[in-house]
Amino acid sequence: MKIEKRKKLKELYSQYEKDVAEFKKSAACVKGCANCCIDVGNIDITTLEGIIIYDRVATFEEPLKSRIKAGLAQNKMERENGVLSRCAFLKADKTCIIYDIRPFSCRWLYSIKKCDGASPTIHRRALNLAKQTVKKIQQLDSSGYSGHISYILFLLDKEEFRKLYLRGKSKPQKIAYFGQSHGIMINRTVPL
Ligand code: SF4
Repeated sequence: MKIEKRKKLKELYSQYEKDVAEFKKSAACVKGCANCCIDVGNIDITTLEGIIIYDRVATFEEPLKSRIKAGLAQNKMERENGVLSRCAFLKADKTCIIYDIRPFSCRWLYSIKKCDGASPTIHRRALNLAKQTVKKIQQLDSSGYSGHISYILFLLDKEEFRKLYLRGKSKPQKIAYFGQSHGIMINRTVPL
């Protein structure tokens, strides 16, 4: 499923990187900083990005796979309680275990000043380009949803939901309660 969509998603990531390359030259971000991976509350993804991560996690050996699943469950619980928590994919050395397939939320964020616990400082033009790219990804994933990484992976872990999504179908009524209580957006209804 969705080979074309996966390809198009990579193109959208690449296009964004090209568009903001000049801005990112002044970024203060360094490998191993990971402030934005610990304040993971805003890491929202689409189901298209989620299924790519889901497939990768399925290839992990034990005990890593169980550790990631436990971390995601913890992220979900903490998020439900309004607590920001360390991303389940962040390694002890503060690098990302799924770096090559990290979602767009983790790609666009940078800061021209060292964050040191504060919010990142990003060029307004880059922020606007990021917002446009998010919309494009949601349009591309028109049969899917958007929400916090732990919520989308929780849904994809349900066989019925995953199979329906992989068939390109969507039945939002099936996840209505979870969706409403967890701020899940139906991509096709997100205004352009
Ligand atoms: S997926 Fe990777 S880059 Fe994104 S928040 Fe988690 S550890 Fe950080």
